[in-house]
Amino acid sequence: MVQVFGHLMKEVASPGFCLACGACAASCPFGCLKMSDEGPKLMEKCRLCGICYDECPQVVDPKELRRQVFGTGVQDKPIGNFEQALSVEARHADIKARAQDGGAVTSILASLLDEGSIDGAVVMGIGESPWKPVPRVATTRKELIECAGTKYSRGPLFLGLRDAVDMYHLSHVALVGTPCQITAARRMQLSRHTNRRLGEAIKICVGLFCGGAFDYNFFVNVIGKHLRTPLEEVEKFDIKRGRFTIYRGQKPRRELALDEVKLYVYPPCKLCSDFSAELADISVGAVGSPLGRSTVLLRTKVGVEAFETAKKLGELDILELERVKPGIRTVEKVEGMKRIRAAKELEILGRQGRPLPVRLGGPPVPKEEPRESKTRIDRL
Ligand SMILES: Cc1cc2nc3c(=O)[nH]c(=O)nc-3n(C[C@H](O)[C@H](O)[C@H](O)COP(=O)(O)OP(=O)(O)OC[C@H]3O[C@@H](n4cnc5c(N)ncnc54)[C@H](O)[C@@H]3O)c2cc1C
Ligand code: SF4
Ligand code: SF4
Ligand code: SF4
Repeated sequence: MVQVFGHLMKEVASPGFCLACGACAASCPFGCLKMSDEGPKLMEKCRLCGICYDECPQVVDPKELRRQVFGTGVQDKPIGNFEQALSVEARHADIKARAQDGGAVTSILASLLDEGSIDGAVVMGIGESPWKPVPRVATTRKELIECAGTKYSRGPLFLGLRDAVDMYHLSHVALVGTPCQITAARRMQLSRHTNRRLGEAIKICVGLFCGGAFDYNFFVNVIGKHLRTPLEEVEKFDIKRGRFTIYRGQKPRRELALDEVKLYVYPPCKLCSDFSAELADISVGAVGSPLGRSTVLLRTKVGVEAFETAKKLGELDILELERVKPGIRTVEKVEGMKRIRAAKELEILGRQGRPLPVRLGGPPVPKEEPRESKTRIDRL
């Protein structure tokens, strides 16, 4: 029994749950799918192999996936499994100058490249439209630094992974993404129907803490047009302590209350309860650390080893998270708040009789026998 693109449309795209991560389109072995800003579009006749469905982060049993990632070692902690919790800051000025917070992500990736443990990283850069995230394949320290900093919208990250494998011929890739993108990466690595070429190329998943992504129209219409702030001139956007700050030059140009801008968060983000990227090898965010430092959770053996590389190369100034303020309780608190928000949103959808995402208990569309399936999944 295989779930195919038609099911993905009915359960994810049509009810508005698509996160536009591009995992389905990147994985289709027949090149049937193309990504738009809203989600996947079928360009050719679907061959019913089921791969796109099995990569999607919105149709997964999160508990089962967690068990697959952490095996019997699943810990009962409020922010998921982790071995070490740290607060770090990049030692190198070139990274610090471009990074969002402490520059942990870029420093760790740079050290993995230096050591040869990876041959590239899939990160988010900016394309022709200012501040619109576009996936990039970075194979040098310079390219990693160019892509540092947070773009608070969403982009089809996995098209970057496909480029890394098919165009750059990389086989040891680090993937940086929001919690939903890390879920898709894990599906790619662990699902039964999957594009193995892509899944096997991912050697480390670096997850970002995530409170939600904004519709790109918010940047164009509200910040660009309404606030008359040309996006090309913005150097940084940041969210801290309930404020959304727009930096133009070194001085904060404008601050908006987070409550005012929440309206522009993508609707499916409101149903998302994973704040700290619980399935990543390493999770990184600002919450928990003092300004200018990154909170780092080392969750798996892969994550611990990668961090050791950065430590050995002297990339980072490192403190235990328990020795800094506000510390780990704040991460737990924010994760808890995100769960509550998601539960409330789910209740509203339920009351309105609207469909729910499958991972949150919505019924999958009844399974059908595929009419034809010629794909030898194991050989992809
Ligand atoms: C949409 C979004 C919401 C976030 N919300 C929070 C929050 O509420 N609280 C919190 O503590 N942290 C949040 N973060 C994470 C935070 O903004 C920083 O990314 C994190 O602290 C790492 O900082 P750094 O200095 O170590 O990273 P850097 O060294 O600056 O590297 C950042 C990395 O993130 C990648 N990246 C940037 N934008 C995106 C994107 N849209 N999708 C995927 N990858 C991207 C870059 O390519 C780069 O590799 C959010 C991130 C995103 C993308
Ligand atoms: S051929 Fe397979 S991966 Fe491609 S759209 Fe159809 S079911 Fe999805
Ligand atoms: S895999 Fe990603 S882009 Fe494709 S339907 Fe699912 S959420 Fe949307
Ligand atoms: S809130 Fe959840 S669904 Fe939205 S971008 Fe962040 S991790 Fe993805």
